[in-house]
Amino acid sequence: MFIDKVMSEIWKSTYEAYTEALGASRSKSTEELKELCRNDINKLAEKVFLSDLHSLTIVETIGCQHQFKKNRISGCTFCDWDSARVGEVARLRALLEKDEQAYADVVKYSFQKIRGAKCSPTLIEQISIHDIMDTVQFPEAAFRHVFVEDSVYNTSPEIGIVSARASSVTAEQVKKWKQVFRKSLTIGIGIEVGNQWLRNNWLNKNITNIQIQRSIELIHENGAKVCANILLGIPGLSNKNALTVFFDTCRYILEIGVDFILVSPLITKPKSLGSMLATDADESDNCQSAMIADAVYGITQRFSQSISKFTFSPDNFEAAILKAQGEEREFMDRVYKAIDNMGKVYTSKGLLEFYKAYEELKESDYYRKEEALMNSNSSSITEELRESALRINNILWDNDEHFSDFLVEVEDFKESELL
Ligand code: SF4
Repeated sequence: MFIDKVMSEIWKSTYEAYTEALGASRSKSTEELKELCRNDINKLAEKVFLSDLHSLTIVETIGCQHQFKKNRISGCTFCDWDSARVGEVARLRALLEKDEQAYADVVKYSFQKIRGAKCSPTLIEQISIHDIMDTVQFPEAAFRHVFVEDSVYNTSPEIGIVSARASSVTAEQVKKWKQVFRKSLTIGIGIEVGNQWLRNNWLNKNITNIQIQRSIELIHENGAKVCANILLGIPGLSNKNALTVFFDTCRYILEIGVDFILVSPLITKPKSLGSMLATDADESDNCQSAMIADAVYGITQRFSQSISKFTFSPDNFEAAILKAQGEEREFMDRVYKAIDNMGKVYTSKGLLEFYKAYEELKESDYYRKEEALMNSNSSSITEELRESALRINNILWDNDEHFSDFLVEVEDFKESELL
C-alpha cells in the first residue's frame, strides 16, 4: 500500500537508529538492561495528569506494535509517540526478549515512579498504554505484576479507562480488565474516521469496519463501555473536506452504538504525514480554531440527540492553542473556554456560552478570512488526496512508481458514500 511505503520512508532513519540501539542492547545482560531502563524512566520523569476525580498515568512499554513492526516503523500517519525516544524503546524491547518478568518489573516501576509504590486511586483511573490488549506490548506477566499480584493500588479503583486497537479486543481481555475496576470500565478504540478506505489507505490504521463493529459487540457483551476516538482534521485534506469526513465519522460511530466519543483535533506531529506536507504557505495549519468551532456547532445541529456523548481531547486543544497566533489565539482561548474541554458545553449553560462565542467568532476578520478560504475550495476529497499523494511522492522519491500504485488504490475510495 502506498501509505505504508510513505510512513516506512518517513521513519526510515528512526528505524535505523532503533535497530542499532536494539543490537547494542541485545548484548547486555538482563540486570544491566533493567538498570538502563530504570534510568531511562527516571530521566523521563513523567508526571500524572491529575484532576479532582481523574488521573491519567502513562506507562512505559515497547511502544505501539502497529508502529514498531519487525522490519520497519510504519504506523498511523498522524501519530508520533516515540520517535524522540527510540533508544529507550529498544532497551525495553531487548529486555522483553530476554526476560518477560524483568520487563514486567520495569513496566511496574514506570507506574510506581509516577504514582508512588502503593497509590490511592482517584475515582477515574486512566491508564495510557497504546494498545493495552496487545499481549506483546503488555504481556500477561505485566498485567498480573502491575494490577493483580501485589497491585500498584492500595484498593481497587472504581472506574477505569484504557485504550486498545480494535484488532486486539477479545472477550477474555475485556473480562480480565473489568476485574481490575469495581464499578465500570471504558475501552477507548481508535476509529479515527468512519470511512474504511480513508482509515486504512490514507491514515494507515489497518483496522476494518468489521473489526471495529466486532470489538464493540465484544466489549458490550462483556459489560464494558466503548469510547470511539476520532480525528477532526485529516492530513493532506482541506478543512472543508476534513469537516465532511468528520460529520460522516460522527454518523458512523453513532450508528454502530458507541457509548462515548473523544474528538482529537489534528495536531501535526514530527514524523507524520502532516509535517511532511506542511509548508509555510500551508493555510490548513492556521485554521484549527475556526474548524473546531464549526465542528462543535455542527455537532449541536446534526447530532443534537447524542451531544452528551462527545468530549474533546484536552491535550490536543492545549497544543492547538499554543500553535495559534494573533487574532486566532484570542478566539481560540474564548471558544475553548466556552467548550471547557471536557464536555461541559453540552450542559445548557455551556451550549449558550458556546453559541455566544461562536457568533462573535463568526464576526471576526480571522473567521471571515478562513471562511472565504474554505468557500473558495472546490476540490473534491479524491482530488485533494491525489494532489497530496503526488506532493509526498515527490518529496520522498525521484520517480512516480509509488504514486502510480496510489492512483490505482484511490479508485476504490467511494467519496459519494460520505454523508
Ligand atoms: S494511533 Fe494508535 S494504533 Fe496508530 S500508531 Fe499511534 S498508537 Fe499505534
